[in-house]
Amino acid sequence: MNSEVIASYNQDKIAIATIGSHSALQIIHGARQEGFRTVLVCTQARAKLYSSFPLASPDRLIVVERFSDLLTDDVQEELLAENAILIPHGSFVEYVGAQAILDRLRVPVFGNKTVLNWETDRRKQREWLVSAGVPVPRNYPDLAAVDGPVIAKLSGAKGGAGLISAANREELQQNLDKAMIDQYTFQEYLIGTRYYPHYFYSKMRDRVEILGIDRRDETNIDELYRYREFIDGSPSYVVVGNRPLVVRESLLPQLLSDAEGLVASSQRLFPPGLIGPFCLEMVCQDNMKFVAVELSARIVAGTNLYPAGSPYSRYYFAGEMSTGRRIALEIREGLQQGRLTQIVS
Ligand code: ATP
Repeated sequence: MNSEVIASYNQDKIAIATIGSHSALQIIHGARQEGFRTVLVCTQARAKLYSSFPLASPDRLIVVERFSDLLTDDVQEELLAENAILIPHGSFVEYVGAQAILDRLRVPVFGNKTVLNWETDRRKQREWLVSAGVPVPRNYPDLAAVDGPVIAKLSGAKGGAGLISAANREELQQNLDKAMIDQYTFQEYLIGTRYYPHYFYSKMRDRVEILGIDRRDETNIDELYRYREFIDGSPSYVVVGNRPLVVRESLLPQLLSDAEGLVASSQRLFPPGLIGPFCLEMVCQDNMKFVAVELSARIVAGTNLYPAGSPYSRYYFAGEMSTGRRIALEIREGLQQGRLTQIVS
């Protein structure tokens, strides 16, 4: 259906659009670097922020009361009139809702929307990781089976909110929200070092790129050594920032083959499979093996570290190449090759 919308678009006036949150500055900045017109749907409270950066301000702001207003007929018509391709990001999925994006969004979205079904449901996400051969932590089937360090998760990406970790079952039971007991997944707590590699699968060039790595700063787990004795209950994992990282070079082959496995299995599980940016949250254990605790099948906020490119993007591209710009480049190449419909849905 979106191929009809794309066919109706003025190919010389394609605009890149997103909603004002998460990685919008980077997406707008990157789209401008590739010469695209840009449109941002944002709330009045954020309009000033997104007009403040001369090189990352959109050509047009569509001000809405709340982000979910993106789905109203008026806003969708405005975006269609702009020949807009929407770039989904974490807040986009969280505020608009995966099901609503699948059922009600008529504006073309970069990437394969079906991936939302596989990313937002923890069980399906795990099936995808396992079928790709990516190591995952052990899940305890229920509370009674917990026999060691554990982290309890509710379904859906929440920026680390609502996670409860504990050294054992007894400690976990004290902190769990009893009313939600059926909705938790109980997972082995991994001891190791966190690496969150950012990838991009380019359909136009048929290759998987690693465009950067970050580690999140999470309150208040990340500086726990400073106040352990003041905290009663589970520490918080809410993400508040990101730090840049590189891995030891001998560890890169595993990070790359895991990403290639994910793309290949996505093509089997939900053709045409994953397109564009994605990220794994990995823990490197003391046997030097990575285990994936989470998969994000879209641009992640950790890429905001690298508007001018990363230590890895430099080995693919001579100039500046953020993930935001990489998306715009893929759209540019799709347009040039008459293959835009292969990379939007
Ligand atoms: P987001 O939506 O932002 O991806 P989330 O709410 O889905 O976050 P996770 O991504 O699963 O939650 O986990 C958030 C953080 O919790 C991770 O960055 C990591 O610090 C920690 N974490 C998650 N799973 C494990 C695990 N099995 N062992 C150790 N730490 C974990």
